[in-house]
Amino acid sequence: MSETLFSRIINRELPADIVYEDDEILAFRDINPQAPVHVLIVPKIEIATVNDLESEHAELIGKMVLAAKQVAIQEGIAQDGYRLVFNCNKHGCQLVFHIHMHLLGGKQLRGSAA
Ligand code: AMP
Repeated sequence: MSETLFSRIINRELPADIVYEDDEILAFRDINPQAPVHVLIVPKIEIATVNDLESEHAELIGKMVLAAKQVAIQEGIAQDGYRLVFNCNKHGCQLVFHIHMHLLGGKQLRGSAA
């Protein structure tokens, strides 16, 4: 698989505003934020889309949600609330084919779906 933009960030070949890191996950601010807080939670292993997830990834996905919770607390938005989103393929408007979860918050978000 060719190296994705996010792998290059994980490998420190591209800069990013990193807000959280552990052995398996990196989280950094979205370059084009859609809300006052817009952070991408990214596993260090390359998985292209949600369609490529297998049962062996269940723990990793759970850890991504826990990382998002921690970032929300750090950012001071946990109590008011936030949204966690995975985009998948064309209809989901996925642009980077290395799975990532968007953490959006810091204002009243509109609706729950498109
Ligand atoms: P998606 O549409 O779910 O694939 O989202 C990809 C996200 O990556 C978009 O919100 C982009 O703004 C964001 N993005 C693209 N390049 C960078 C970058 N170099 N650093 C941080 N975020 C980026």
